[in-house]
Amino acid sequence: MTETRSTCPYCGVGCGVIIQSEAGQITGVRGDPQHPANFGRLCTKGSTLHLTAAAPVTRQTRLLQPMLRERRNGAPLPVEWGRALDLAAARFAQAVTDHGPDAVGFYISGQLLTEDYYVFNKLAKGLIGTNNVDTNSRLCMSSAVAGYKMTLGADAPPACYEDVDHADCLFIAGSNTAFAHPVLFRRIEEARAAKPQMKVIVCDPRRTDTAEFADLFLPIQPGTDVMLFHGLLHIMLWEGWTQPEYIAQHTSGFDALKTVVRECTPEQVAQTCGIPKEDLFTAAQWFATSNSTLSLYCQGLNQSSSGTAKNAALVNLHLATAQIGRPGAGPFSLTGQPNAMGGREVGGLANLLSAHRDLANPQHRAEVAALWGVPSVPDKPGKTAVEMFQAAADGEIKALWIACTNPAQSMPDQATVRRALQRAEFVVVQEAFATTTTCEFADLLLPATTWGEKDGTVTNSERRISRVRPAVGKPGGARHDWEIVVEFGRRLEARLPSPPPSPASGRGSPEDPETPGQRRTLFPYATPESIWLEHRESTRGRDLDITGLSYGLLERSPQQWPFAEGAAQGRARLYEDGVFPTADGKARFAAVQYRPLAEARESRYPFSLTTGRLRDQWHGMSRTGTLGRLFGHVPEPVVEMHPQDIARRLLREGDLVHVTSKRGSIVLPVQASAALGVNQAFIAMHWGPEFLAGVSSTGERLAGVNALTTSAYCPTSKQPELKHAAVKILKA
Ligand code: SF4
Repeated sequence: MTETRSTCPYCGVGCGVIIQSEAGQITGVRGDPQHPANFGRLCTKGSTLHLTAAAPVTRQTRLLQPMLRERRNGAPLPVEWGRALDLAAARFAQAVTDHGPDAVGFYISGQLLTEDYYVFNKLAKGLIGTNNVDTNSRLCMSSAVAGYKMTLGADAPPACYEDVDHADCLFIAGSNTAFAHPVLFRRIEEARAAKPQMKVIVCDPRRTDTAEFADLFLPIQPGTDVMLFHGLLHIMLWEGWTQPEYIAQHTSGFDALKTVVRECTPEQVAQTCGIPKEDLFTAAQWFATSNSTLSLYCQGLNQSSSGTAKNAALVNLHLATAQIGRPGAGPFSLTGQPNAMGGREVGGLANLLSAHRDLANPQHRAEVAALWGVPSVPDKPGKTAVEMFQAAADGEIKALWIACTNPAQSMPDQATVRRALQRAEFVVVQEAFATTTTCEFADLLLPATTWGEKDGTVTNSERRISRVRPAVGKPGGARHDWEIVVEFGRRLEARLPSPPPSPASGRGSPEDPETPGQRRTLFPYATPESIWLEHRESTRGRDLDITGLSYGLLERSPQQWPFAEGAAQGRARLYEDGVFPTADGKARFAAVQYRPLAEARESRYPFSLTTGRLRDQWHGMSRTGTLGRLFGHVPEPVVEMHPQDIARRLLREGDLVHVTSKRGSIVLPVQASAALGVNQAFIAMHWGPEFLAGVSSTGERLAGVNALTTSAYCPTSKQPELKHAAVKILKA
């Protein structure tokens, strides 16, 4: 038996795993006792990874060779890799030649490794000249990115998991940590057991398992977080619980924020949020006056049309009370996906560039162009996730490349997404699993490797980079994601006009000096490590400088960034010196306004539908859905409603109901749940077409809860409001 150290592919906790394999098969998995994210622990999903990997590899479950659909609605047929990539390059080059670089788009994934992300980003921005590269991380953490940058000056979570052990007060907002980040939640349980005086505050519209654990639960109305946070600051100011010295020395903009929160009186906040004034007062006191307060937050804040404002308003509280830059204190956004952080690091979003550089900054664009040896990178912001599919639905984007994600299930407003996939002239889906809904829309299917087979790195929520390593070989004709991009990129280079030499770097000559007459490739990589080394160099001197790291060092021990050349170790927490990465070194208070939900409840749609994760399933279930045992916790989709609402509508538990929004409708059984307030409903996000059929308002076949959700998004982060839709619920 062989043992291989790697990382769990599911959530942003980023647990280390040891994969056991024998004769080319994965036979077991256990937690890595030396990994600082989990010290040997795994949750139900992680501890069954070997069982999902052991599912029979067949053409029904895995994509094992490229498949081409010669005509829409026809059956996809096997095609050789060479022909598949030549065809893809020809179709993308044609779209660029005929309609310009912005006629193509790449929609990628927080499940990809950092090396995969890097080459996709370089392909779009460096070779093709479009910023149309976005990712399902847009649905996960783009509001956290925007919130950090708005207030602290950089996209860098300032805290770490160890801070859970040091905190005297935990403020958990919009996060069912017990389900979504189970190993971290075990650490929270242990920390409070060791320190019974620790206070835990949870704010969430639902009384989740995490809320059950709280000393103080604030069951706020959906979407009212900014009002809550402003109300807490109002009380802190009134009671003299802020830290004027810290505010004066290390921040700017407090007077403008005070003007905003002055209006957020306890009465106003209690009424808007639907919580007692006394609880508001208690929360403010615990947050501000505890020796150390750590906030943990996730999609309840991020997946919102006010996502950036919610994040910034919470950071405001930490700055006003000096609860930052100390052990146990700070605003700590939890990443949903395993490598949304790594994607941010390489700039794999439509508005970012490598190593936390900004697309809007001409100096940053010039630096990236010089690094890549291209004349320039485009300055026009790319299409973000919702915008990209809307542009394809409108006929603006002609060729779409989708990798390692399932937008035909996971994007909001499914009807528009499906229109986009049908209207796009050429759709490539690069995917490990043959079972995702998006595969049905592909003109070309490219088989990719997955967990247990891949090699590279990921970064977890606490900025810790871990190695992902292969325990077994590639199945069938599958290739690594980075390999597919590199092979495609080289073919596309041959079809696009050669760029002129880069004036900034002297690189980018159209000719390779070692092979005169041949064009230099932007994709000279033979291994994932060679990609990572280029990424590493791009971070030199940046806030996330990792020039002191190597694959070898990471294999011995996962490390947090920054870790500059010469450093002995990474930095556990940031801003301990009170200096922030802004022009004047001061953090900036954000005087954001409370805004109601994009789609309020109203008489025709009287329920607030919220969505969320189950404990034992992951995303669209392409992996966890293969294992019967993971259905033991929740066996089928249900819509949860408050018992009073069920009774008032003359329903009984188990009755089938239509849940309908302005966009679509699904049918599923109703289940009573006292975890919800009245006029609220909850449906888990994971169920796909085999479990939960739906129909659009115009009669198209849809699936899952995203038949109902809205694509309204935060104007700053462009993250859609997946967490809330107004619905009606009627007996089927
Ligand atoms: Fe994997 Fe997250 Fe569970 Fe850890 S907590 S084992 S990373 S799913």
